[in-house]
Amino acid sequence: MAFDHPNKRWEACPMLYQAARFYGMADLADYVLEFQREIMKATALKIQVIYYERCMADYGTRNQFLDNVEEGMDLHDLMLGIHLACESDEFSPLQEAWVDFCQATMFWILSVERFDGFLRQTVPAFRDRVLDKMDPRDGPDYTPERCKDCRENPFLRDEGHWVQAWDMGFGIEGRCDQCGPELPLFK
Ligand SMILES: [Zn+2]
Repeated sequence: MAFDHPNKRWEACPMLYQAARFYGMADLADYVLEFQREIMKATALKIQVIYYERCMADYGTRNQFLDNVEEGMDLHDLMLGIHLACESDEFSPLQEAWVDFCQATMFWILSVERFDGFLRQTVPAFRDRVLDKMDPRDGPDYTPERCKDCRENPFLRDEGHWVQAWDMGFGIEGRCDQCGPELPLFK
């Protein structure tokens, strides 16, 4: 079953979701959407950590930080999922979930030129929706070192993550999942 394959899910979910909506099977569409959001949450958390680790190790690799990652998380799979979700003209809850996903990576995924180029060329309306969510200071080059409020690094906690990160011009600031507002993807 395609759902069991990490890299096939991004393809299977939008296809099943759109078929379920087309045939009026609202319960199935809701189920697929929820399933997709769960995978997105886990993936966004991993992307935050990968960004942190790769930038720490070699800042110059920032633009390729999603190269050679585990199956199901690479750019090709993510771009395919977004492409399929955006195939219908209507702005669906599935597309909205993908916008929330980009935000849940603290917009760090946009620092990959290949990804941003794909958004520009293939799904520009979707990209506009992502940019609408951004504050000019969002998507800083580095991850914050410690949460502005609790002074902890959330990556040292199980499933800890950033919910806000800004470039202050004189440094990077952010709030962790225990101190800041819950990310839309996690609601
Ligand atoms: Zn905190």
